[in-house]
Amino acid sequence: MDAHLTEFMDKIKVRNSHEPEFLQAVLEVAESIIPFIEQNPVYKKNRILERIAEPERVIMFRVPWLNDYGEIEINRGYRVQMNSAIGPYKGGLRFHSTVNLSILKFLAFEQVFKNSLTGLPMGGGKGGSDFDPKGRSDNEVMKFCQSFMTELYRHINADIDVPAGDIGVGGREIGYLFGQYKRIKGEFTGVLTGKAHEFGGSLIRPEATGYGVVYFAEEMLKTRGESLRGKTVVISGSGNVAQYAVEKCIHAGAKVVTMSDSDGFIYDLHGIDEAKLAYIMQLKNFRRGRIEEYAKKYDCEFFGGEKPWKVKCDVAFPNATQNELDGNDALTLIQNECICVAEGANMPCTLEAIHAFEAARILYAPGKASNAGGVAVSGLEMSQNSLRISWTRDEVDNRLRQIINQIHQICVHNGKGQDGYVQYIKGANIGGFIKVADAMIAQGLV
Ligand code: NAP
Repeated sequence: MDAHLTEFMDKIKVRNSHEPEFLQAVLEVAESIIPFIEQNPVYKKNRILERIAEPERVIMFRVPWLNDYGEIEINRGYRVQMNSAIGPYKGGLRFHSTVNLSILKFLAFEQVFKNSLTGLPMGGGKGGSDFDPKGRSDNEVMKFCQSFMTELYRHINADIDVPAGDIGVGGREIGYLFGQYKRIKGEFTGVLTGKAHEFGGSLIRPEATGYGVVYFAEEMLKTRGESLRGKTVVISGSGNVAQYAVEKCIHAGAKVVTMSDSDGFIYDLHGIDEAKLAYIMQLKNFRRGRIEEYAKKYDCEFFGGEKPWKVKCDVAFPNATQNELDGNDALTLIQNECICVAEGANMPCTLEAIHAFEAARILYAPGKASNAGGVAVSGLEMSQNSLRISWTRDEVDNRLRQIINQIHQICVHNGKGQDGYVQYIKGANIGGFIKVADAMIAQGLV
Protein backbone atom coordinates (compact mmCIF):
# COMPACT_ATOMS: atom_id res chain seq x y z
CA MET A 1 0.00 0.00 0.00
CA ASP A 2 1.23 3.49 -0.80
CA ALA A 3 2.55 5.42 2.24
CA HIS A 4 -0.09 8.17 2.07
CA LEU A 5 -2.88 5.60 1.85
CA THR A 6 -1.48 3.64 4.81
CA GLU A 7 -1.16 6.77 6.92
CA PHE A 8 -4.73 7.82 6.09
CA MET A 9 -6.22 4.38 6.73
CA ASP A 10 -4.34 3.99 10.03
CA LYS A 11 -6.12 7.08 11.34
CA ILE A 12 -9.51 5.89 10.10
CA LYS A 13 -8.92 2.47 11.71
CA VAL A 14 -8.18 3.95 15.14
CA ARG A 15 -11.54 5.69 15.20
CA ASN A 16 -13.62 2.93 13.56
CA SER A 17 -11.78 -0.22 14.58
CA HIS A 18 -14.90 -2.38 15.00
CA GLU A 19 -16.49 -1.44 11.69
CA PRO A 20 -15.10 -3.73 8.94
CA GLU A 21 -17.64 -2.82 6.24
CA PHE A 22 -17.11 0.89 6.82
CA LEU A 23 -13.32 0.48 6.67
CA GLN A 24 -13.68 -1.52 3.44
CA ALA A 25 -15.81 1.20 1.81
CA VAL A 26 -13.41 3.96 2.87
CA LEU A 27 -10.37 2.01 1.61
CA GLU A 28 -12.08 1.41 -1.73
CA VAL A 29 -12.55 5.17 -2.15
CA ALA A 30 -9.19 6.19 -0.69
CA GLU A 31 -7.31 3.95 -3.16
CA SER A 32 -8.38 6.21 -6.01
CA ILE A 33 -8.87 9.53 -4.20
CA ILE A 34 -5.52 9.78 -2.39
CA PRO A 35 -3.43 9.86 -5.62
CA PHE A 36 -5.92 12.44 -6.96
CA ILE A 37 -5.56 14.57 -3.81
CA GLU A 38 -1.77 14.43 -4.09
CA GLN A 39 -2.15 16.11 -7.49
CA ASN A 40 -4.75 18.62 -6.19
CA PRO A 41 -3.36 19.95 -2.87
CA VAL A 42 -6.34 22.22 -2.14
CA TYR A 43 -8.29 19.11 -1.11
CA LYS A 44 -5.42 17.95 1.08
CA LYS A 45 -5.06 21.33 2.77
CA ASN A 46 -8.79 21.33 3.59
CA ARG A 47 -8.60 17.70 4.80
CA ILE A 48 -11.67 16.91 2.73
CA LEU A 49 -11.28 13.12 2.67
CA GLU A 50 -10.89 12.95 6.47
CA ARG A 51 -13.98 15.16 6.85
CA ILE A 52 -16.05 13.10 4.37
CA ALA A 53 -15.16 9.92 6.28
CA GLU A 54 -16.64 11.30 9.52
CA PRO A 55 -20.48 11.38 9.67
CA GLU A 56 -21.99 14.78 10.37
CA ARG A 57 -24.32 13.05 12.82
CA VAL A 58 -25.34 9.54 13.93
CA ILE A 59 -28.68 8.99 15.61
CA MET A 60 -29.32 5.71 17.44
CA PHE A 61 -32.56 4.92 19.21
CA ARG A 62 -34.73 2.31 20.91
CA VAL A 63 -37.70 0.91 18.96
CA PRO A 64 -40.13 -0.84 21.36
CA TRP A 65 -43.26 -2.47 19.91
CA LEU A 66 -45.87 -5.16 20.62
CA ASN A 67 -45.94 -8.36 18.53
CA ASP A 68 -49.06 -10.35 17.58
CA TYR A 69 -48.88 -12.32 20.86
CA GLY A 70 -48.98 -9.15 22.95
CA GLU A 71 -45.29 -9.51 23.83
CA ILE A 72 -42.87 -6.58 23.98
CA GLU A 73 -40.07 -6.59 21.39
CA ILE A 74 -37.16 -4.17 21.31
CA ASN A 75 -35.10 -3.30 18.25
CA ARG A 76 -32.45 -0.70 17.59
CA GLY A 77 -33.02 2.09 15.09
CA TYR A 78 -30.40 4.25 13.36
CA ARG A 79 -30.01 7.18 11.02
CA VAL A 80 -26.55 8.13 9.78
CA GLN A 81 -26.54 11.70 8.43
CA MET A 82 -23.26 11.53 6.57
CA ASN A 83 -22.88 14.64 4.44
CA SER A 84 -25.16 17.56 3.55
CA ALA A 85 -22.74 19.66 1.45
CA ILE A 86 -24.79 19.44 -1.74
CA GLY A 87 -28.33 18.86 -0.45
CA PRO A 88 -30.54 17.29 2.21
CA TYR A 89 -29.36 13.88 3.47
CA LYS A 90 -30.78 11.21 1.17
CA GLY A 91 -30.51 7.44 1.36
CA GLY A 92 -32.53 4.36 2.17
CA LEU A 93 -33.63 2.55 5.30
CA ARG A 94 -32.59 -1.10 5.69
CA PHE A 95 -34.53 -3.51 7.92
CA HIS A 96 -32.52 -6.73 8.32
CA SER A 97 -31.21 -8.75 11.26
CA THR A 98 -27.59 -8.02 10.22
CA VAL A 99 -27.96 -4.23 10.39
CA ASN A 100 -25.40 -2.49 12.59
CA LEU A 101 -23.54 0.81 12.63
CA SER A 102 -20.68 -0.45 10.44
CA ILE A 103 -23.05 -1.49 7.66
CA LEU A 104 -25.06 1.72 7.80
CA LYS A 105 -21.94 3.91 7.86
CA PHE A 106 -20.53 2.13 4.81
CA LEU A 107 -23.85 2.56 3.00
CA ALA A 108 -24.10 6.25 3.98
CA PHE A 109 -20.51 6.88 2.91
CA GLU A 110 -21.08 5.28 -0.52
CA GLN A 111 -24.32 7.23 -0.85
CA VAL A 112 -22.47 10.57 -0.66
CA PHE A 113 -20.50 9.77 -3.84
CA LYS A 114 -23.45 8.13 -5.59
CA ASN A 115 -25.81 11.04 -4.98
CA SER A 116 -23.20 13.49 -6.19
CA LEU A 117 -22.79 11.48 -9.42
CA THR A 118 -26.51 11.80 -10.22
CA GLY A 119 -26.05 15.57 -10.64
CA LEU A 120 -29.07 16.15 -8.38
CA PRO A 121 -28.89 18.19 -5.15
CA MET A 122 -28.81 15.37 -2.60
CA GLY A 123 -26.48 14.79 0.34
CA GLY A 124 -25.82 11.31 1.73
CA GLY A 125 -27.42 9.36 4.54
CA LYS A 126 -28.63 5.88 5.45
CA GLY A 127 -30.59 4.30 8.26
CA GLY A 128 -32.50 1.28 9.38
CA SER A 129 -32.90 -1.30 12.08
CA ASP A 130 -31.98 -4.84 13.07
CA PHE A 131 -35.69 -5.66 12.73
CA ASP A 132 -36.34 -8.22 9.96
CA PRO A 133 -39.79 -8.09 8.30
CA LYS A 134 -39.32 -11.66 6.98
CA GLY A 135 -41.83 -14.00 8.64
CA ARG A 136 -43.68 -11.12 10.32
CA SER A 137 -47.38 -10.38 9.77
CA ASP A 138 -48.48 -7.13 8.11
CA ASN A 139 -49.78 -6.02 11.50
CA GLU A 140 -46.39 -6.56 13.16
CA VAL A 141 -44.58 -4.73 10.34
CA MET A 142 -47.00 -1.81 10.74
CA LYS A 143 -46.52 -1.66 14.52
CA PHE A 144 -42.75 -1.73 14.12
CA CYS A 145 -42.78 0.98 11.41
CA GLN A 146 -45.01 3.20 13.54
CA SER A 147 -42.71 2.90 16.54
CA PHE A 148 -39.61 3.46 14.38
CA MET A 149 -41.08 6.66 12.89
CA THR A 150 -42.26 7.89 16.30
CA GLU A 151 -38.59 8.56 17.04
CA LEU A 152 -37.21 9.17 13.52
CA TYR A 153 -39.73 11.93 12.66
CA ARG A 154 -37.91 14.52 14.78
CA HIS A 155 -34.71 14.14 12.72
CA ILE A 156 -36.11 14.26 9.16
CA ASN A 157 -38.21 16.40 6.85
CA ALA A 158 -38.43 17.19 3.15
CA ASP A 159 -35.63 19.81 3.39
CA ILE A 160 -33.41 18.07 5.96
CA ASP A 161 -33.31 14.32 5.40
CA VAL A 162 -35.42 12.23 3.02
CA PRO A 163 -35.19 8.44 3.59
CA ALA A 164 -36.29 5.77 1.07
CA GLY A 165 -36.31 1.95 0.91
CA ASP A 166 -33.48 -0.61 0.84
CA ILE A 167 -33.26 -4.27 1.86
CA GLY A 168 -36.42 -5.18 3.80
CA VAL A 169 -38.05 -1.80 3.17
CA GLY A 170 -40.35 -1.81 0.15
CA GLY A 171 -43.66 -0.14 -0.72
CA ARG A 172 -45.50 -1.66 2.26
CA GLU A 173 -42.99 -0.37 4.84
CA ILE A 174 -42.69 3.07 3.19
CA GLY A 175 -46.51 3.35 3.31
CA TYR A 176 -46.65 2.64 7.05
CA LEU A 177 -43.71 4.96 7.78
CA PHE A 178 -45.27 7.77 5.73
CA GLY A 179 -48.65 7.32 7.43
CA GLN A 180 -47.11 7.65 10.88
CA TYR A 181 -45.01 10.69 9.92
CA LYS A 182 -48.10 12.41 8.50
CA ARG A 183 -50.08 11.62 11.62
CA ILE A 184 -47.45 12.95 14.03
CA LYS A 185 -46.47 16.06 12.07
CA GLY A 186 -49.89 16.78 10.56
CA GLU A 187 -48.31 17.58 7.22
CA PHE A 188 -48.31 15.94 3.82
CA THR A 189 -44.83 16.42 2.35
CA GLY A 190 -42.27 14.50 0.33
CA VAL A 191 -40.43 13.34 3.46
CA LEU A 192 -39.94 9.82 2.09
CA THR A 193 -39.44 8.55 -1.45
CA GLY A 194 -40.52 5.22 -2.87
CA LYS A 195 -44.14 6.03 -1.94
CA ALA A 196 -47.05 4.48 -3.81
CA HIS A 197 -48.14 6.54 -6.80
CA GLU A 198 -51.50 7.33 -5.14
CA PHE A 199 -49.80 9.46 -2.47
CA GLY A 200 -46.96 11.13 -4.28
CA GLY A 201 -44.68 8.32 -5.43
CA SER A 202 -42.92 8.64 -8.76
CA LEU A 203 -43.69 6.31 -11.61
CA ILE A 204 -40.65 4.10 -12.41
CA ARG A 205 -39.26 4.43 -8.83
CA PRO A 206 -39.80 0.71 -8.10
CA GLU A 207 -38.13 -0.20 -11.40
CA ALA A 208 -35.38 2.45 -11.29
CA THR A 209 -32.46 0.65 -9.63
CA GLY A 210 -32.89 -2.56 -11.62
CA TYR A 211 -33.50 -0.75 -14.91
CA GLY A 212 -30.64 1.64 -14.20
CA VAL A 213 -28.04 -1.06 -13.62
CA VAL A 214 -28.97 -2.67 -16.92
CA TYR A 215 -28.82 0.70 -18.74
CA PHE A 216 -25.37 1.19 -17.22
CA ALA A 217 -24.18 -2.25 -18.36
CA GLU A 218 -25.43 -1.49 -21.87
CA GLU A 219 -23.34 1.70 -21.90
CA MET A 220 -20.28 -0.25 -20.73
CA LEU A 221 -20.78 -2.96 -23.36
CA LYS A 222 -21.17 -0.29 -26.06
CA THR A 223 -17.59 0.87 -25.38
CA ARG A 224 -16.50 -2.56 -26.66
CA GLY A 225 -18.95 -2.70 -29.57
CA GLU A 226 -21.11 -5.20 -27.65
CA SER A 227 -24.71 -5.26 -26.36
CA LEU A 228 -26.85 -7.41 -24.08
CA ARG A 229 -28.70 -9.02 -26.98
CA GLY A 230 -28.11 -12.78 -26.99
CA LYS A 231 -25.93 -12.66 -23.85
CA THR A 232 -26.26 -15.10 -20.96
CA VAL A 233 -26.75 -13.24 -17.69
CA VAL A 234 -26.32 -14.34 -14.08
CA ILE A 235 -28.15 -12.35 -11.40
CA SER A 236 -28.11 -12.72 -7.62
CA GLY A 237 -30.97 -11.66 -5.38
CA SER A 238 -34.70 -11.83 -6.02
CA GLY A 239 -35.79 -8.60 -4.37
CA ASN A 240 -36.60 -5.21 -5.83
CA VAL A 241 -33.32 -4.59 -7.66
CA ALA A 242 -32.97 -8.13 -9.01
CA GLN A 243 -36.57 -8.37 -10.24
CA TYR A 244 -36.42 -5.23 -12.38
CA ALA A 245 -32.92 -6.00 -13.62
CA VAL A 246 -34.29 -9.32 -14.90
CA GLU A 247 -37.20 -7.51 -16.55
CA LYS A 248 -34.91 -5.05 -18.34
CA CYS A 249 -32.50 -7.82 -19.41
CA ILE A 250 -35.45 -9.68 -20.98
CA HIS A 251 -36.42 -6.46 -22.83
CA ALA A 252 -32.81 -6.11 -24.01
CA GLY A 253 -32.83 -9.62 -25.50
CA ALA A 254 -30.56 -11.28 -22.92
CA LYS A 255 -31.13 -14.67 -21.27
CA VAL A 256 -31.14 -14.56 -17.45
CA VAL A 257 -30.43 -17.99 -15.98
CA THR A 258 -30.16 -17.43 -12.22
CA MET A 259 -31.76 -15.64 -9.27
CA SER A 260 -31.16 -16.20 -5.56
CA ASP A 261 -32.14 -15.44 -2.00
CA SER A 262 -30.37 -16.03 1.29
CA ASP A 263 -31.14 -19.78 1.03
CA GLY A 264 -29.43 -20.41 -2.33
CA PHE A 265 -29.89 -19.90 -6.08
CA ILE A 266 -31.98 -21.33 -8.92
CA TYR A 267 -30.42 -22.19 -12.28
CA ASP A 268 -32.90 -22.17 -15.15
CA LEU A 269 -30.96 -22.96 -18.29
CA HIS A 270 -33.97 -22.13 -20.50
CA GLY A 271 -33.94 -18.58 -19.14
CA ILE A 272 -36.37 -16.63 -16.94
CA ASP A 273 -39.08 -15.22 -19.22
CA GLU A 274 -41.80 -12.65 -18.45
CA ALA A 275 -44.27 -15.26 -17.17
CA LYS A 276 -41.67 -16.81 -14.85
CA LEU A 277 -40.68 -13.35 -13.61
CA ALA A 278 -44.34 -12.56 -12.85
CA TYR A 279 -44.38 -15.74 -10.73
CA ILE A 280 -41.25 -14.57 -8.84
CA MET A 281 -42.77 -11.15 -8.20
CA GLN A 282 -45.91 -12.75 -6.81
CA LEU A 283 -43.83 -15.20 -4.75
CA LYS A 284 -41.48 -12.58 -3.30
CA ASN A 285 -43.62 -9.45 -3.02
CA PHE A 286 -46.96 -10.89 -1.91
CA ARG A 287 -46.61 -14.48 -0.72
CA ARG A 288 -43.16 -13.64 0.70
CA GLY A 289 -41.95 -17.16 -0.12
CA ARG A 290 -38.53 -18.66 -0.88
CA ILE A 291 -36.77 -18.86 -4.27
CA GLU A 292 -36.52 -22.67 -3.97
CA GLU A 293 -40.24 -22.83 -4.84
CA TYR A 294 -39.36 -21.57 -8.34
CA ALA A 295 -37.15 -24.63 -8.91
CA LYS A 296 -40.03 -26.93 -7.98
CA LYS A 297 -42.55 -25.09 -10.15
CA TYR A 298 -40.36 -24.86 -13.25
CA ASP A 299 -38.44 -28.11 -12.73
CA CYS A 300 -34.96 -26.62 -12.64
CA GLU A 301 -31.99 -26.91 -10.30
CA PHE A 302 -31.76 -25.27 -6.86
CA PHE A 303 -28.34 -24.94 -5.20
CA GLY A 304 -28.91 -24.58 -1.45
CA GLY A 305 -26.48 -22.34 0.46
CA GLU A 306 -24.61 -21.36 -2.73
CA LYS A 307 -24.11 -18.24 -4.83
CA PRO A 308 -24.59 -18.22 -8.60
CA TRP A 309 -21.08 -17.10 -9.68
CA LYS A 310 -19.98 -20.57 -10.85
CA VAL A 311 -22.60 -20.54 -13.61
CA LYS A 312 -21.06 -19.70 -17.01
CA CYS A 313 -22.18 -16.29 -18.22
CA ASP A 314 -21.27 -13.25 -20.31
CA VAL A 315 -22.57 -10.65 -17.86
CA ALA A 316 -23.06 -10.78 -14.07
CA PHE A 317 -25.21 -8.54 -11.89
CA PRO A 318 -24.63 -8.98 -8.13
CA ASN A 319 -27.93 -7.60 -6.85
CA ALA A 320 -28.40 -9.02 -3.33
CA THR A 321 -26.09 -7.70 -0.62
CA GLN A 322 -22.58 -6.61 0.40
CA ASN A 323 -19.56 -8.92 0.03
CA GLU A 324 -21.51 -11.63 -1.81
CA LEU A 325 -18.82 -12.01 -4.52
CA ASP A 326 -15.23 -12.61 -3.35
CA GLY A 327 -11.84 -12.97 -5.04
CA ASN A 328 -12.35 -16.67 -5.83
CA ASP A 329 -15.78 -16.02 -7.32
CA ALA A 330 -14.22 -13.29 -9.48
CA LEU A 331 -11.57 -15.70 -10.77
CA THR A 332 -14.29 -18.25 -11.62
CA LEU A 333 -16.26 -15.62 -13.55
CA ILE A 334 -13.11 -14.54 -15.43
CA GLN A 335 -12.19 -18.18 -16.27
CA ASN A 336 -15.75 -18.65 -17.57
CA GLU A 337 -15.18 -15.69 -19.89
CA CYS A 338 -17.57 -13.25 -18.26
CA ILE A 339 -16.93 -9.84 -19.89
CA CYS A 340 -18.94 -7.46 -17.70
CA VAL A 341 -19.89 -7.16 -14.02
CA ALA A 342 -22.22 -4.33 -12.96
CA GLU A 343 -23.19 -4.00 -9.30
CA GLY A 344 -26.89 -3.55 -8.53
CA ALA A 345 -26.26 -4.07 -4.82
CA ASN A 346 -24.04 -1.86 -2.67
CA MET A 347 -20.46 -3.17 -2.33
CA PRO A 348 -21.34 -6.76 -3.35
CA CYS A 349 -17.80 -7.36 -4.64
CA THR A 350 -14.91 -7.54 -2.19
CA LEU A 351 -11.77 -5.50 -2.88
CA GLU A 352 -9.97 -8.70 -3.98
CA ALA A 353 -12.73 -9.35 -6.53
CA ILE A 354 -12.51 -5.78 -7.86
CA HIS A 355 -8.73 -6.03 -8.20
CA ALA A 356 -9.13 -9.35 -10.07
CA PHE A 357 -11.66 -7.88 -12.53
CA GLU A 358 -9.45 -4.87 -13.19
CA ALA A 359 -6.32 -7.00 -13.60
CA ALA A 360 -8.18 -9.12 -16.16
CA ARG A 361 -9.31 -5.90 -17.90
CA ILE A 362 -12.98 -6.91 -17.92
CA LEU A 363 -15.72 -4.30 -17.59
CA TYR A 364 -16.51 -3.73 -13.92
CA ALA A 365 -18.79 -1.03 -12.45
CA PRO A 366 -19.17 -0.22 -8.72
CA GLY A 367 -22.65 0.18 -7.28
CA LYS A 368 -22.17 3.86 -6.53
CA ALA A 369 -22.23 4.40 -10.31
CA SER A 370 -24.26 1.52 -11.70
CA ASN A 371 -27.06 1.38 -9.11
CA ALA A 372 -27.52 5.16 -8.84
CA GLY A 373 -30.74 4.94 -10.88
CA GLY A 374 -32.77 4.28 -7.73
CA VAL A 375 -31.70 7.38 -5.86
CA ALA A 376 -31.82 9.39 -9.09
CA VAL A 377 -35.53 8.66 -9.47
CA SER A 378 -35.95 9.31 -5.75
CA GLY A 379 -34.48 12.75 -6.49
CA LEU A 380 -37.00 13.11 -9.32
CA GLU A 381 -39.76 12.08 -6.89
CA MET A 382 -38.65 14.91 -4.55
CA SER A 383 -38.83 17.37 -7.46
CA GLN A 384 -42.32 16.20 -8.44
CA ASN A 385 -43.49 16.43 -4.81
CA SER A 386 -42.14 19.99 -4.49
CA LEU A 387 -43.82 21.01 -7.74
CA ARG A 388 -46.96 19.03 -6.83
CA ILE A 389 -47.04 17.39 -10.25
CA SER A 390 -46.55 13.88 -11.57
CA TRP A 391 -44.51 13.04 -14.64
CA THR A 392 -45.42 10.18 -17.01
CA ARG A 393 -43.56 6.87 -17.07
CA ASP A 394 -41.79 7.83 -20.28
CA GLU A 395 -40.72 11.21 -18.92
CA VAL A 396 -39.18 9.63 -15.81
CA ASP A 397 -37.63 6.74 -17.73
CA ASN A 398 -36.03 9.15 -20.22
CA ARG A 399 -34.58 11.25 -17.38
CA LEU A 400 -33.31 8.06 -15.73
CA ARG A 401 -31.56 7.03 -18.94
CA GLN A 402 -30.02 10.50 -19.32
CA ILE A 403 -28.72 10.46 -15.74
CA ILE A 404 -27.24 6.97 -16.14
CA ASN A 405 -25.57 7.99 -19.42
CA GLN A 406 -24.11 11.08 -17.73
CA ILE A 407 -22.75 8.98 -14.86
CA HIS A 408 -21.20 6.62 -17.38
CA GLN A 409 -19.53 9.55 -19.13
CA ILE A 410 -18.19 10.89 -15.82
CA CYS A 411 -16.70 7.46 -15.06
CA VAL A 412 -15.05 7.28 -18.48
CA HIS A 413 -13.77 10.85 -18.23
CA ASN A 414 -12.14 10.34 -14.83
CA GLY A 415 -11.29 6.65 -15.09
CA LYS A 416 -9.86 6.05 -18.56
CA GLY A 417 -6.18 5.06 -18.51
CA GLN A 418 -3.52 5.47 -21.16
CA ASP A 419 -4.17 1.96 -22.48
CA GLY A 420 -7.86 2.88 -22.99
CA TYR A 421 -9.09 0.65 -20.13
CA VAL A 422 -11.73 2.37 -17.99
CA GLN A 423 -11.42 1.92 -14.23
CA TYR A 424 -15.05 2.73 -13.44
CA ILE A 425 -14.38 2.68 -9.73
CA LYS A 426 -11.68 5.33 -10.02
CA GLY A 427 -13.88 7.37 -12.35
CA ALA A 428 -16.89 7.16 -10.02
CA ASN A 429 -14.89 7.99 -6.90
CA ILE A 430 -13.16 11.02 -8.41
CA GLY A 431 -16.29 12.21 -10.25
CA GLY A 432 -18.42 11.95 -7.09
CA PHE A 433 -15.74 13.47 -4.87
CA ILE A 434 -15.03 16.71 -6.75
CA LYS A 435 -18.52 18.20 -6.46
CA VAL A 436 -18.89 17.41 -2.75
CA ALA A 437 -15.33 18.55 -1.98
CA ASP A 438 -15.76 21.87 -3.79
CA ALA A 439 -19.07 22.50 -2.00
CA MET A 440 -17.44 21.75 1.37
CA ILE A 441 -14.60 24.17 0.69
CA ALA A 442 -17.05 26.88 -0.43
CA GLN A 443 -19.11 26.47 2.76
CA GLY A 444 -16.14 26.82 5.12
CA LEU A 445 -15.22 24.66 8.08
CA VAL A 446 -18.69 23.45 9.18
P1 NAP B 1 -34.79 -6.51 -1.17
O1 NAP B 1 -35.93 -6.22 -2.06
O2 NAP B 1 -35.02 -6.61 0.29
O3 NAP B 1 -34.06 -7.83 -1.71
C1 NAP B 1 -32.83 -8.23 -1.17
C2 NAP B 1 -32.45 -9.54 -1.82
O4 NAP B 1 -31.13 -9.89 -1.38
C3 NAP B 1 -33.35 -10.70 -1.44
O5 NAP B 1 -33.36 -11.62 -2.48
C4 NAP B 1 -32.62 -11.26 -0.20
O6 NAP B 1 -32.92 -12.61 0.08
C5 NAP B 1 -31.19 -11.11 -0.61
N1 NAP B 1 -30.34 -10.98 0.56
C6 NAP B 1 -30.42 -10.04 1.54
N2 NAP B 1 -29.49 -10.24 2.47
C7 NAP B 1 -28.82 -11.33 2.08
C8 NAP B 1 -27.72 -12.04 2.63
N3 NAP B 1 -27.14 -11.65 3.78
N4 NAP B 1 -27.26 -13.12 1.93
C9 NAP B 1 -27.84 -13.50 0.76
N5 NAP B 1 -28.88 -12.88 0.21
C10 NAP B 1 -29.36 -11.80 0.86
O7 NAP B 1 -33.64 -5.38 -1.33
P2 NAP B 1 -33.24 -4.56 -2.64
O8 NAP B 1 -33.88 -3.24 -2.53
O9 NAP B 1 -33.43 -5.39 -3.85
O10 NAP B 1 -31.69 -4.34 -2.36
C11 NAP B 1 -30.69 -5.23 -2.84
C12 NAP B 1 -29.34 -4.52 -2.86
O11 NAP B 1 -29.42 -3.36 -3.72
C13 NAP B 1 -28.85 -3.98 -1.52
O12 NAP B 1 -27.45 -4.04 -1.48
C14 NAP B 1 -29.29 -2.52 -1.55
O13 NAP B 1 -28.51 -1.72 -0.69
C15 NAP B 1 -29.01 -2.20 -3.00
N6 NAP B 1 -29.72 -1.03 -3.55
C16 NAP B 1 -31.08 -0.98 -3.53
C17 NAP B 1 -31.71 0.12 -4.07
C18 NAP B 1 -33.20 0.21 -4.15
O14 NAP B 1 -33.70 1.15 -4.78
N7 NAP B 1 -33.96 -0.71 -3.59
C19 NAP B 1 -30.97 1.18 -4.61
C20 NAP B 1 -29.57 1.08 -4.64
C21 NAP B 1 -28.97 -0.04 -4.10
P3 NAP B 1 -33.87 -12.98 1.33
O15 NAP B 1 -35.25 -12.65 0.88
O16 NAP B 1 -33.63 -14.41 1.58
O17 NAP B 1 -33.40 -12.09 2.47
